[in-house]
Amino acid sequence: MKGKVYLVGAGPGDPELLTLKALRLLRQADAVLHDDLVSPQILTLVPRNAQLHDVGKRAGRKSARQEEIHFLMIELARQGLQVVRLKGGDPLVFGRAGEEMQALRKAGIEFELVPGVTAALAAAASVEIPLTLRQTASSLLIMTGQFADDRPVPDLRPLIASGTTIALYMPGADARATVEKLSAAGVPPQTPCAIISRASTAAQQTTVTTLEKLPSVGAQAKPSILILGDVVRLAKQGLLDFQTLSTELLSAQDLAERAGANRA
Ligand code: SAH
Repeated sequence: MKGKVYLVGAGPGDPELLTLKALRLLRQADAVLHDDLVSPQILTLVPRNAQLHDVGKRAGRKSARQEEIHFLMIELARQGLQVVRLKGGDPLVFGRAGEEMQALRKAGIEFELVPGVTAALAAAASVEIPLTLRQTASSLLIMTGQFADDRPVPDLRPLIASGTTIALYMPGADARATVEKLSAAGVPPQTPCAIISRASTAAQQTTVTTLEKLPSVGAQAKPSILILGDVVRLAKQGLLDFQTLSTELLSAQDLAERAGANRA
């Protein structure tokens, strides 16, 4: 049989959020190369006789270099194996699939992409935050918190003004630095935000606050994602710190009414 590589999204952690296609491919795989973000429950779905390669960062050694991953994928496919390159969330969102596709193309290896549920969607669903809201939040920005030092943080002012929800992946361990960067990019200090860690797993934790108060929340277990925008006010009851959010700002009800009025 001809070898092929499947770049597969494993979703955010909950095995039930795997697609049926991902599940079928995992069960049929001859070899699986996975990242550290992929949950252990999902790895139990890999057949016992399949090769399992941990190419993630927490495998007790330094991260496998990207070129080594390319080399391994290509070699296994050349042996005629069905190779699953399994990534947390979706492979095309901060998943290095771009580089891997290039390497596979160059080597003439057939490949296919299988999308997965990306962290922002799972995190929002788990706390009932609508990422868009008619007239109030008309766009969603997927962004990394890890800006290269020599590249300026993009100017977010026009986006914020037009009602964009921001999903900040890899927010970083230093909340103060994150707040500084976002403030410098024009995100107002009172912007509601939710930090959701280990979304969709039994260990999930969520805190709802405002950007300026984020540093007082304390360290979050990894991985975590930050959702910013007015829509955070619609998060499920019990999560909202009304001391923080209700006073000088619009209430969730106001926000819903505003959306309703704009619709009419
Ligand atoms: N391809 C992945 C993203 C990889 S980058 C996806 O589509 O989701 C790694 C970042 O993703 C983490 O730093 C974190 O911000 C986010 N992330 C991944 N899984 C998560 C989870 N279960 N809960 C919260 N954030 C998660």
